[in-house]
Amino acid sequence: MCIPCKALPTGIVTCLQSIQNSSGSHLYTPSSSMYLNDRLGFNNIFDHKPSAIFHPGSEADAATVIVCAAAHNVSIAPRSGGHSFERYSGSGKDGSLVIDLSLFQQIAIEHDTGIATVGAGTRLGPLYTRLWNAGEYLVPAGSCPSVGICGHALRGGMGMVGRKYGMLSHNIVSLTMIDANGDILEISATSRPDLFWALRGAGGGSFGLVTEFRIQAYKAPATITTVVAMYPWSMHHVVMEAFGIWAKTATDDLTPLLYINHDIVAIMGTFLGPRDEANAVFKPLYELTGPPEHSAFNEGTWYAVAMWAKIEGSKVENPIAKHDRTYRSPSLLYRQPISDSEMTTFSRYLSSPPNNLNSRISSQTAHSSGPTLEAYQNYIERDIPNGLQAYYGDNMPRLIEIKKNVDPDNIFTFPQAIPLK
Ligand SMILES: Cc1cc2nc3c(=O)[nH]c(=O)nc-3n(C[C@H](O)[C@H](O)[C@H](O)COP(=O)(O)OP(=O)(O)OC[C@H]3O[C@@H](n4cnc5c(N)ncnc54)[C@H](O)[C@@H]3O)c2cc1C
Repeated sequence: MCIPCKALPTGIVTCLQSIQNSSGSHLYTPSSSMYLNDRLGFNNIFDHKPSAIFHPGSEADAATVIVCAAAHNVSIAPRSGGHSFERYSGSGKDGSLVIDLSLFQQIAIEHDTGIATVGAGTRLGPLYTRLWNAGEYLVPAGSCPSVGICGHALRGGMGMVGRKYGMLSHNIVSLTMIDANGDILEISATSRPDLFWALRGAGGGSFGLVTEFRIQAYKAPATITTVVAMYPWSMHHVVMEAFGIWAKTATDDLTPLLYINHDIVAIMGTFLGPRDEANAVFKPLYELTGPPEHSAFNEGTWYAVAMWAKIEGSKVENPIAKHDRTYRSPSLLYRQPISDSEMTTFSRYLSSPPNNLNSRISSQTAHSSGPTLEAYQNYIERDIPNGLQAYYGDNMPRLIEIKKNVDPDNIFTFPQAIPLK
């Protein structure tokens, strides 16, 4: 297979070959037939060519690979579900060594504590399915079943019950990470607390290779109601304002979102309880907006709600990660109500969207909103102005100190990784 790419130093190739096939580990280099397909991520706007892709079958093999890579100064990109919008699990450039965790699929639950042990290659759909089948447990996380747990949990992970249970990262009790020396570290609030803090939000790709999580799971309520309330497009301004007022004070049992495009204005939500209670929660909203044009309140179980994930068009329990997507989803955090002039810019954009809907909308809108730009690092965007400041704000100095301690030679890196200075 002849794809131009930077070859690995001979020493590291020998090292990788010496452990491939041990514990089921395997290695794909550009000359392997599997390499072409395996190097693809969810988003293929970018086409990076790693020097090799290693699938460790054990923590010991992963640690050996990290030590070999560090000795030859080859940078490492860990990969879990491969859903980074900027392909950072391909390291965002050619020539890195990708360590793919897909063989780490273990899921187990301790019934007395509700703590789930989850392997770093697990995707959200199988996680939801296995926890549900183990005793109707849920964990708060995103809606698409093929998203991998690592990028998601290490940078946040928000989803359909986040108002009540927080992000997935808030529910990490402890984790296992292999550092740049190949040491296997157990990390929790009491063991390496600084690293524990850093990994729960800034952890993807910057500090080491996470292999396993312990996550707090919750017994799902018996009944959950999914809600959709739709309005005519002409009401988008009114609905946006009303949503801002109402959602702030609505009960945490409801996780609502407002979806607007050039012809749809919809409030969707997941309510932890029965339909009549959900109806009561929406009453104050309707006092502000008037009745919606169409609404649907459907009762079901948590696992039925997780089926929202069908929007991705793949099976929840066994999602197929597609490699044919070419879009990005940038983000922007607004802490203040959207002003009238921002609303006008937004309306103009929505009523006449440019043909090429790329990430620049977030930066453009942000520029009009003032100097302090904040954004969500799981919707990472290469072109965002002052990205590290936008994603990590005042936490940067502390994150840099932690990076210097745990990865002083910057082996774990990508274009928007936590830097050494
Ligand atoms: C279709 C789709 C739907 C989405 N839905 C949601 C949603 O509902 N809610 C939400 O919050 N986000 C959502 N996202 C964003 C998603 O959370 C992020 O893209 C997330 O980082 C993907 O995680 P991953 O493991 O699949 O990605 P990867 O590309 O594998 O990894 C992302 C980053 O984490 C690093 N990383 C991966 N594995 C490890 C590891 N073992 N140790 C250390 N670092 C590691 C990678 O190097 C990379 O920098 C969605 C994304 C897509 C494409």
